[in-house]
Amino acid sequence: MSGNEQDSAGGLQPSGQRQAASIVSGAAGRHPSEVILVAGGAGFLGLHLCRRLLSQGHRIICLDNFLTGSCEAAMRLQEEPKFSLIRHDIIEPLPSGLRPTQIYNLACAASPPRYQIDPVHTLRTCVQGAFNLLELARSSGARILQASTSEIYGDPQEHPQREDYHGNVNPVGIRSCYDEGKRCAETLFSDYARRHGVKVRIARIFNTYGPGMAPDDGRVVSTFISQALAGEALTVYGDGSQTRSLCYVDDMIEGLIRLMNSPDSVQRPVNLGNTEEVSILEIAQRVCRLARQEPRFDFRPLPADDPALRRPDIGLAWRCLGWKPTVAFDDGLKETYAYFQREQARA
Ligand code: UDP
Repeated sequence: MSGNEQDSAGGLQPSGQRQAASIVSGAAGRHPSEVILVAGGAGFLGLHLCRRLLSQGHRIICLDNFLTGSCEAAMRLQEEPKFSLIRHDIIEPLPSGLRPTQIYNLACAASPPRYQIDPVHTLRTCVQGAFNLLELARSSGARILQASTSEIYGDPQEHPQREDYHGNVNPVGIRSCYDEGKRCAETLFSDYARRHGVKVRIARIFNTYGPGMAPDDGRVVSTFISQALAGEALTVYGDGSQTRSLCYVDDMIEGLIRLMNSPDSVQRPVNLGNTEEVSILEIAQRVCRLARQEPRFDFRPLPADDPALRRPDIGLAWRCLGWKPTVAFDDGLKETYAYFQREQARA
């Protein structure tokens, strides 16, 4: 048999044939209740998810191409006996021998500057990557959760955004590789459920922040905190009146796990996010207050297609999952700021 072969715990042993994947680390372990493949497991959400699932006793196979994920952080998890790490880009055929019982698809750069670096690769990740993982779900019988996004609503004309709103998306703009890619992935997931009976879950993830964000990932919270800690002016795009609703990472992980383990009646998209809506200028002011600095802003042009408003309606998540966020933005921002301070002191 060529390619990687399944070990007794559902992970991989290298047999040196398959070119697309290379094992960064692997470990044998007892059979847990679930064997969970986390695609994009070395990213911001992925690492938090892997840690939480490990703490619940599951066996984790983390797949990542390390385009934006942290190889170093994922390597540290190899001390956990139930964690295996495979370097792999999901747009390539998946390694053979994988037999997960659950799959989380978190594999895609999520910050606008990052996903715009190679838009064609972003689109292929969203679509071809989803296809490859859905085929694996189909052949293995695994349940599969798609990390979709509030970006599928585009620049919304309905506020707040409910799941039955179909969005206002530019198909040919600089954000389209991600927005349309994620929309297409939702279509693929829905068709695999209808045509092939694959058990799918679709989470529409709204802006999420917290400890573990990369300082240079370009997202608003990490950028503002990094700038404040460096004593720089905060780069506010436009006049800063655009809004976002920011969810603390622990809340988001709880929502994702609840959705994955929800009854099979929940196959339609579910919004996950915080309903506390703040303007970008307000975020900048709060970060300056935390840093005990006089507010200093460097106003720059608003990027094309930057949504003016964003706030989820999370009634469906509450009804189906009993889930709503528990961490107020001020508290989460404090935690995140403290994390960045500690990281700066370590460097
Ligand atoms: N933003 C900003 N300054 C920055 C980074 C982002 O003003 O240095 C704004 C950006 O234009 C957007 C909002 O903050 O309106 C959120 O941006 P982010 O990239 O975090 O996520 P998005 O919700 O746009 O995908």
